[in-house]
Amino acid sequence: MTQTGDSAIYDIAIIGGGINGCGIARDAAGRGWRVHLCDRADLGSGTSSASTKLIHGGLRYLEHYEFRLVREALMEREVLWGIAPHIVWPLRFVLPHHRQLRAAWLLRLGLFLYDHLGGRKRLPPTRTVRLRSDPTGAVLKTDFTLGFEYSDCWVEDSRLVLLNARDAADRGATIAPRTACVSARRQGALWQVALRDETTGERRTITARSLINAAGPWVAQVAGSVISANAPAAVRLVQGSHIVVPKLYDHGTCYIFQNADGRIFFVIPYERDFTLIGTTDQDYTGDPAQVRASAAEIEYLCRSTSDYLRVPVTPDMVVWTYSGVRPLYDDGSSAPQQATRDYVLKLDAPADSAPLLSVFGGKITTYRRLAQSALAQLAPHLPAAAGEAAGWTGRAALPGGDFAIDGFDGLLARTAARFPFLPEPMLRRLLRAYGTRIDDIMGTATSLAELGRCYGADLTEAELQYLARAEWARSAEDVVWRRSKLGLRLSSAEVGAIDEAMHRIGAARMAAA
Ligand SMILES: Cc1cc2nc3c(=O)[nH]c(=O)nc-3n(C[C@H](O)[C@H](O)[C@H](O)COP(=O)(O)OP(=O)(O)OC[C@H]3O[C@@H](n4cnc5c(N)ncnc54)[C@H](O)[C@@H]3O)c2cc1C
Repeated sequence: MTQTGDSAIYDIAIIGGGINGCGIARDAAGRGWRVHLCDRADLGSGTSSASTKLIHGGLRYLEHYEFRLVREALMEREVLWGIAPHIVWPLRFVLPHHRQLRAAWLLRLGLFLYDHLGGRKRLPPTRTVRLRSDPTGAVLKTDFTLGFEYSDCWVEDSRLVLLNARDAADRGATIAPRTACVSARRQGALWQVALRDETTGERRTITARSLINAAGPWVAQVAGSVISANAPAAVRLVQGSHIVVPKLYDHGTCYIFQNADGRIFFVIPYERDFTLIGTTDQDYTGDPAQVRASAAEIEYLCRSTSDYLRVPVTPDMVVWTYSGVRPLYDDGSSAPQQATRDYVLKLDAPADSAPLLSVFGGKITTYRRLAQSALAQLAPHLPAAAGEAAGWTGRAALPGGDFAIDGFDGLLARTAARFPFLPEPMLRRLLRAYGTRIDDIMGTATSLAELGRCYGADLTEAELQYLARAEWARSAEDVVWRRSKLGLRLSSAEVGAIDEAMHRIGAARMAAA
């Protein structure tokens, strides 16, 4: 940081630690700029942990002629898989042809474009599936005879946020979770940004040459009540909910189903023993922090899935739900599912005044490209930086992802040989979450007992310590719903014990600081 007297000047202050804020922080820190990022809650606790978790081109967006978005998103699939092969992996999707809905030729055309619009080198192409004989047809009602199978990728969404934040911090950025931005005021060529620590109530002010409003569903609220500026564009809040049920079938292929209302939704094998179903699309007007799956949405998802599967899905099977709010750029479309999923960046840079960049919309899939565009817009207003060249984020592995794109099985075998005492499901989970950074959890352990107390499922004291030390975790919820999905396997008593442990670890860390 440039020092003026005893106060530091950041090049970029970012409000919002979702995928967009953390993606920009990583890119900017690598480029050599001084970055401060704050989030008033846990990193990724907004929309970025409530997605369908797909790195996808968005087959449906072709119907809205969003070719630029689809092409960019398709290209990102293999880029993100390459930089984070632990938390990103390929999936196959079966799209059954439904006689009353989109015509087979239209589906084939869409998938032809999907295969050829850009970037597919490793992912297998589309194939036609005869559902009467193909194993993927066995769970479907017998009226479905023809389907198409295509590729997209899975991503652990909240972990992608954390790994971007971790890498940004490793490259010098200051990452401040549980820190609200309460006001930001221009003073000539600088921003004075007032922050409040949401744990201690302490206030401090930082100075920055530029400000980015990446508050997702809160972007308009932050523009109005924090920055006291007119929101440079309208944001349309669209709720989407998911349900999780016990595993509906044994194979690893996903389904994409069409509904009579024109919507599509996904059925995806999830966390080994479960199936994820979603999403809905409905306009939302409440506080985004309070969004919950409604009984009507749960019913809708169960009914829609049951239209396709031989064995019906009913609300009493639901073991977990989650819901999020898409912060879409309001392009004036009538139906929520038609509103653009593309991102829009608005730069406000009056002469001799510090610039403000506001982020609208976007997808997890395109976060890296969004970050690149954001920095391209801000760069002329920032001092020259001596870091990496633009585009570096597509080549450098995210933390723990420094192994070959198709090297997960090899890493599993090598790590199993080094830690033979780890049960295979535990080792697999740890490698999927932390990749090569598993070593920071294992340390010199030569037995399970040396990892400390097990809090349930296979969560040990060593992992909790790591999450507090390296990933800013402070509560059980941070650990069991965002750093992992172990909440699906833990009792409330176990979660309570984890919460106590996290508070103990947090207090010890504060005392030592
Ligand atoms: C149901 C659903 C399914 C989706 N599925 C997919 C998918 O499969 N693939 C895909 O690519 N995309 C998907 N998306 C889109 C994607 O999830 C979002 O576009 C993305 O997560 C938005 O990230 P963000 O960083 O803009 O917002 P957020 O993740 O919401 O981050 C904004 C952050 O700002 C913080 N904040 C707010 N006010 C303040 C303040 N005053 N001070 C400090 N911090 C503040 C909040 O705490 C929050 O963490 C889906 C979205 C939804 C809702």
